[in-house]
Amino acid sequence: MQAIIISVGDELTLGQTVDTNSAWLSARLAELGTMTRAHLTVPDDQAAIVRAVRQASELAEWVVITGGLGPTKDDLTRQALAEVQGGPMVMHAPSLAKIEQFFKDRGRVMTESNRVQSLAPAGAMVLDNPQGTAPGLRLAVGRAQVFSMPGVPLEMKAMFEQHLAPLIAAQAGRTILTRKINTLGIGESMVGEALGDLMRRDRNPVVGTTVSSGIVSVRIRSDFPTRVQAQAELDRTASAVKDKLGTAVFSEGDVSLAVVVGELLQARHRTVATAESCTAGLVAAMLTEVPLSSAWFLGGWVVYANRMKTEALGVPSELIAREGAVSEQVVRRMAAEALQRSAGDYALALTGVAGPGGGSPEKPVGTVWIGLGKNMAGQVHVAAERFLLFGDRAMVRERAAKTALNMLRLELLKTDDR
Ligand code: AMP
Ligand code: MG
Repeated sequence: MQAIIISVGDELTLGQTVDTNSAWLSARLAELGTMTRAHLTVPDDQAAIVRAVRQASELAEWVVITGGLGPTKDDLTRQALAEVQGGPMVMHAPSLAKIEQFFKDRGRVMTESNRVQSLAPAGAMVLDNPQGTAPGLRLAVGRAQVFSMPGVPLEMKAMFEQHLAPLIAAQAGRTILTRKINTLGIGESMVGEALGDLMRRDRNPVVGTTVSSGIVSVRIRSDFPTRVQAQAELDRTASAVKDKLGTAVFSEGDVSLAVVVGELLQARHRTVATAESCTAGLVAAMLTEVPLSSAWFLGGWVVYANRMKTEALGVPSELIAREGAVSEQVVRRMAAEALQRSAGDYALALTGVAGPGGGSPEKPVGTVWIGLGKNMAGQVHVAAERFLLFGDRAMVRERAAKTALNMLRLELLKTDDR
């Protein structure tokens, strides 16, 4: 069985909104054992939607439409489906009651256009929307099952899981499960070498790597007739991958490096502060994206100009003049000052050349010194390391921030709970 996904919306064909729905749906369909044959994107135009639905229903068994189910005149998917069916639209009483209740609960006036959302092409099955007022639709067109859902990603995902996923999984006769294991600090080719035979293309589960903003992820795809078998094989391969890659693995799925660092700090009852020059707060921003980060993130200094390094953080101006702002001595002092002034357990300090200008033969663009200070029973200890990061300004800054977080992660792994 194959699927075709149709995305409806002027904002999509105009390039104002990126079509994330199709990407998400294809990934979920693959997990459920169904390949996507094509993605079609059409504007809010009834004729274009009708053409796309007719074409898709000739080529695939599942047609999944998102968008165009809203209450306004430019939401035309409902009408297009009625046209494809060649029949009238009928009022769906439970949907109308739900919409009326929605407005009553909020003390708002329901307009005539909201009633449109309770219309359905005759013969279509109406799908409840657990996240909103616009219901979805299911109807047969030729040999295809056509599903229509709202474009709002949150609503679409909830409806897919409730109404489509069980049906599609039952029809597929196989289960495809995936897992993503994220690593930092070693390059893609080194990950490949470490994995060796695990990356053979004829293997099931199949193992591949992808790189995204400095993070090398190992993707595992397990394809078996039953869910139990697919899960067991997936887990076995994931364990083998993790054994080979050791502490380079920092998380799975979409769990960020900052979340992992936060969990380690939380578990060990430790705190961290930052002193940032080239990243100017990026490390602090990443750490504070994590909910409840106030439990372990104390604060930080953005010391971009040399004068600020001296006046706000106490790095001696003679030291900066002698060694240069991007130097081991300066990053050590930044870390030590941040540690003492914050009275935290750890401090991360960064100073580097983000580019595109400012590089020199000794300190080319991408040179970043990172200092990790730790308070060991009142004694300040700083480890400093020089990195040469590649990429444009944004990439150097992002990689520097992640490299710093990774230094702290690796240090925390060596530290026991207290
Ligand atoms: P609609 O159901 O067409 O009224 O869409 C409602 C909102 O969902 C739009 O304003 C977009 O912000 C969002 N949206 C619609 N289609 C997509 C899509 N394919 N990918 C991501 N967001 C979408
Ligand atoms: Mg729309």
